[in-house]
Amino acid sequence: MAICLSGGKNRLDDLTDDELLQVAAAARRQTSWAQARELAAIAELTRRHTADEDAGDPDYRILSARESVTEEVAAALTVTSNTAATLVHLAEQLTGPLAETGDALGAGQLDMAKARVICDVTDRLPEEAAGRVQRAALEKASGQTTGQLRRRIRRIAQRLAPEAIEERKREATRLRRLEVWDTSSGTTDLALCDLATEDAHAIYNKITAAAHGIKTDGDTRPLNAIRADLAAQLLHGVELPDAIRTVLTQTRDDTDPAPPEEDESPAIGRDCASPSLPVLHGHTEAVPGGGSVPSSAVAVPGQRSGNVRGLDGEAVTYRNGDPSPACSPQPGSGTDAGPPFPGTRTESGGTSDDLGIAALTDEVDRRLRHVHARVQPCELPHAIRQAVQRIHGQFSDARDAACRGGDEVHGRPGYRPSAAMRREVEARHQTCVFPTCNQPSHRCDLDHTVPWRPGITCRCNLAPLCRRHHRLKQRTDWRLFQIWAGLLIWVTPSGAWYIVHPDRQ
Ligand SMILES: [Zn+2]
Ligand SMILES: [Zn+2]
Repeated sequence: MAICLSGGKNRLDDLTDDELLQVAAAARRQTSWAQARELAAIAELTRRHTADEDAGDPDYRILSARESVTEEVAAALTVTSNTAATLVHLAEQLTGPLAETGDALGAGQLDMAKARVICDVTDRLPEEAAGRVQRAALEKASGQTTGQLRRRIRRIAQRLAPEAIEERKREATRLRRLEVWDTSSGTTDLALCDLATEDAHAIYNKITAAAHGIKTDGDTRPLNAIRADLAAQLLHGVELPDAIRTVLTQTRDDTDPAPPEEDESPAIGRDCASPSLPVLHGHTEAVPGGGSVPSSAVAVPGQRSGNVRGLDGEAVTYRNGDPSPACSPQPGSGTDAGPPFPGTRTESGGTSDDLGIAALTDEVDRRLRHVHARVQPCELPHAIRQAVQRIHGQFSDARDAACRGGDEVHGRPGYRPSAAMRREVEARHQTCVFPTCNQPSHRCDLDHTVPWRPGITCRCNLAPLCRRHHRLKQRTDWRLFQIWAGLLIWVTPSGAWYIVHPDRQ
């Protein structure tokens, strides 16, 4: 690429076909290099945070240090916890036992997909076997596709460590499961995962044989559709014609078909548009099919140096220093010494609330950036925690006044929120309030942000947290604040902050 560029040809239009291919290949090598850097950084972070944790008994109420790093990576890179866990695992492997693969990735000799294949195939093999598989892989990886590479090194692994491979398989089938997820075309996939191979093929072959029979009898549907319909009918418990039943029950005992299960696709048709919900940005987000779409794109990560961005990577309508027309704070509100919020809140209902939340978010972010710019890096986490704690304290009276209205006390007596309060909080946040989490709030715990007593049971101190992020919050190096009803701030162990709004309508 450098040669092409130094030849004065800085437009792709000017390059020959051959040069274009060279540029593509060079860019791919650079991508591999960048991915190796990304993994090396994650590995270093993981090493630092897990170094002193191994001592002592694990406490299952609290997320482990490794999982805490995973969550920090997830939030910082805006990926799911699963993706982040894969990255952390790869990072540790490619800087540890598979360091040669890591080096080859950094040198652009293979890409991330191939590095993952090597990592997958060597997973849980004895050290000696893993090393030999790795060497064999690296010999030919640059000239093989992922498919070719996988086939070849699987054979080698099978020859070198058959028992380990068998054990790995047994381990995987222990995690067998039925999965459901929504697709982009508005349909839903249903899959049986991690069955024993012979079992899965036996089922598939039988259904195929039955489908062929139906087809031969003159059915005009494509074979694929017949297979899918047949499988669906079986799972629905529909009575099938005798001839088909005979094919299906030929060789094996039939287990009882599962009873028709109510499809509980998360969030489908759930209406969260409560009229009291503040609108935070003009940006409206369609949630097609619900469940699998990251609706937690409501968060504003505390970027250490960049702009304020939504977690979905799209610009939100307010930016630092940008008087956005959609939800800009009232003139001067952010520059006052006092908090901008209470003044707007007491005026009237929804709209000023929206303005207030947006202005408040803006103001908090501005203050935290100010702190960030002025403290020593080693003091950052502490300084950010303290700053948010201070802000939380400053709003205490205003929160009290806003929630209480004419009532005697702030909040509801007792630990348990009322059904109405639960509905309100679940409507306010459709998902767990961790920035990248997609767990529907009706499947979450309703967490007291400040633990009950001194924390109160009130809309300004309750938020949905899935079990995992509930455990994350129990860690002392993570902090969660709710500075206004529905407006939460996470402060991570490294001192990054994420502001989570109520869902937009
Ligand atoms: Zn309250
Ligand atoms: Zn969660």
